[in-house]
Amino acid sequence: MKKATFKKGNLQNDGLDFVRQRKFMREALLEVCNPREVILPMIQHRGTACDPVVSVGDSVSIGDMVGVPHDSSGVPVHASISGEVSRIDVIRLPNKVSCKAIWIKNDLRRRVSTKIHQRKNIDTLSLAELKKLLWQSGICGMGGEGIPTFAKCLKAEQAGVDTLLVNATQSEPFLACDLHHIRVNAAKVLQGAMALGGICHVKRVVFCIEDLWTDEIDALNKAVAEFRHRYLDRKIEVQLFKTRFPQGCQQLIIKALYGVELPIGKDPEENVKAVLFNASTCYAFCDMIEKNQPLISRVVTISGDTITGHNVLVPIGTSVSELLERVPGAHTAQRIAWGGAMTGVAIKDLQVPIIKTTAAITIIRKFEPPRMNCIHCGACVSACPVGLSPYLLNRLIELGQEDVTRDESVEQCIACGACSYVCPSGIELSTNIAKAAHRARRRGAK
Ligand code: SF4
Ligand code: SF4
Repeated sequence: MKKATFKKGNLQNDGLDFVRQRKFMREALLEVCNPREVILPMIQHRGTACDPVVSVGDSVSIGDMVGVPHDSSGVPVHASISGEVSRIDVIRLPNKVSCKAIWIKNDLRRRVSTKIHQRKNIDTLSLAELKKLLWQSGICGMGGEGIPTFAKCLKAEQAGVDTLLVNATQSEPFLACDLHHIRVNAAKVLQGAMALGGICHVKRVVFCIEDLWTDEIDALNKAVAEFRHRYLDRKIEVQLFKTRFPQGCQQLIIKALYGVELPIGKDPEENVKAVLFNASTCYAFCDMIEKNQPLISRVVTISGDTITGHNVLVPIGTSVSELLERVPGAHTAQRIAWGGAMTGVAIKDLQVPIIKTTAAITIIRKFEPPRMNCIHCGACVSACPVGLSPYLLNRLIELGQEDVTRDESVEQCIACGACSYVCPSGIELSTNIAKAAHRARRRGAK
């Protein structure tokens, strides 16, 4: 099979320790069952905020809907533990989103909503019922983008897509939550993907995975062979990609598969008639179909430069602080990232919650980058997967000439962090450029 790929980015032999993931991702999942408290922000997705539908003092069970969106560009929020609503207040998240949030104090009784139960009639669910379940599930893209999955399916249906892509190309070093699902329960990922594919009316489902992950590829192939007979109306394929960072980014998957550069602000639905869902998102929808269980927990990879790492099943809303209590020395780390090593946001306040899109918490202990001026080595240009000149963009930003960066296509930046990673001078290129790109896109939209 021809392996798909794109040009530039970072390869394994660039020093990225992809292989380190193997060891810990194959350990048993550690489950954090009962955090003392959870904080549930009303925006954990890309879209409009939910309104809290509980009040301080209310008692809630696991799976109760506590936040309701105004329209299909939002997703409901559910209680991830049982207990008492202790506070409703405004929170500011590390991704700069400010919104209302609900604090729930755990009663340690693990009371579960009566709505969560094993479903008997899975095979007879109609498309209308599946759509309703998807809306109720509160699922949004769990790979980081957070686009409401219900809204994405509606858009895909309207655009007449023919292909559903499952993104299992977890290319960021130290990140392994999607791969965990593939390895442990590929059948559930497949069934969730096929249900989403049914809603979007696709004729083809393609699982995208990097060639390094041989056990996970075997698990996927086995699941496809086992379930193919149930979906004879659709083609199911497993497509291998060369292991390269940031292959998991939507633009680069489309580029590698279709040879098409997605224009900024455009989605693959319209441009290549394909819709992309993350593997964890597919898994979460299977939970909703099988158990009527909305999105109340997620697998988070806790790793770093000096720890072995673990995948942990975490109730949504658990604070980073509580999550890291079991990681020796975590609080003395030089840097803790809410997210992966390359694309995560550095946090100082560890009281921030794990939300639906938090795939990892990364602990960096040996963070001593050099601090030098640019030596014009060109490494950042060679690494940038979308063909930008990061050193030039950064210089223009430093000189206060941000307007000029638009002539250099700054808005194309996908905030992958590849340029900062390779820079021998330790210049924080990606943070500056990604912010300028965001501002340029906002100005463009106006
Ligand atoms: S400029 Fe943006 S897209 Fe290019 S490598 Fe840096 S962060 Fe990635
Ligand atoms: S990698 Fe760093 S030092 Fe090299 S050209 Fe880019 S900004 Fe300058």
